[in-house]
Amino acid sequence: MKIIDAHLHLFNPDERSETMARQVGHENSLPYLENLYKSQGVVAGVVMGNQKLSPDAYRFPSFFRYCIAVGSKYQGPKEEAQTIELAEEHLKRSACVGIKIYAGYTLAYVSDARFTPYIKLAEKYDKPVAIHTGMTAGVRGQLKYSHPLTVDEVAGAYPKVQFVLCHFGNPFLCEAAAVMEKNANVAADLSGLLSGIPDLDRYFHRHAGYVEWMRTWLRYLDDDSRFLFGTDFPAVNIPRYIEYIRRLVDEESLEKIFFHNANRIYGLGL
Ligand SMILES: [Zn+2]
Repeated sequence: MKIIDAHLHLFNPDERSETMARQVGHENSLPYLENLYKSQGVVAGVVMGNQKLSPDAYRFPSFFRYCIAVGSKYQGPKEEAQTIELAEEHLKRSACVGIKIYAGYTLAYVSDARFTPYIKLAEKYDKPVAIHTGMTAGVRGQLKYSHPLTVDEVAGAYPKVQFVLCHFGNPFLCEAAAVMEKNANVAADLSGLLSGIPDLDRYFHRHAGYVEWMRTWLRYLDDDSRFLFGTDFPAVNIPRYIEYIRRLVDEESLEKIFFHNANRIYGLGL
C-alpha cells in the first residue's frame, strides 16, 4: 500500500530535535528519513512548517511538499505586509501545498484578525489551511485556542477554503467530529496520536475504551474521504505509527486514509 505522510516536521539539527527523534528510535536527518520512508512504502511527505518565512526558506528534496507556518508572532503593519507578500510568493509554488496555523502554541484564536490575510491567500490559491487542534506539547500552549470548536467560525466564514484539523482535535474528538459534520470543508489528519514506542497489543488492550471512542468518532460522519494519515515525525516512531493507524481504522478505509485523501486535499498530483 502506498502511503502519504500528510504531517511531519523537519527541524534543523539541534539538541532538542535530536533528543526528540532518539526517544522514538529515530535520527533527525533527511537522508535517514528518506530511507526510512522508502522502507515503509511512504511515497511523499507534507512538511508542516516551523521556519520563518523568507524566499529561501523551505527548500526540501522533491519527495517533500510543505505548508508555511503563518501568524505565530504579532508584527507591526510594515513587517506584516512583507510577511504576507512572502507567504504569497510561497503559495505560488507547487511545492507549497498550504498554510499551517499553530493555534494553541500561538496564543490567539484561529478567527483572530492576524490570520485573516493568510486564510484569504489560501482561498486565492485554492490550498488548504492546516490548524493545530487539541493537546499541546509542554505547558506554554493554551488549550482554549487549540480546541477544535474554534475552527467552526472560520470554516463557516470561508466555505471555499479546505481546513484540516491536525490531530483530529485529540482528545476533543467528539467536538472535532461535530465541526466536520457541520462544515463539509473540514477534514482531519490522524497524526501525533501515540507517544513513545508502545507495545501495540498491550496498548489496544489497556486503552480499549479510548480506541473504541476514537473509532466511534471516525465512523460518526460515515465519510472516510475526510481523514488523512500523518505521523508528526520526529514525535513518533514511523513503522509503529503506521501499524497503529492500520489497526485503528476500518479495513475498507485504509487506502483512502493512507493515500488518496491526502493526495486530493493537498493537491499532490500523485
Ligand atoms: Zn505537528
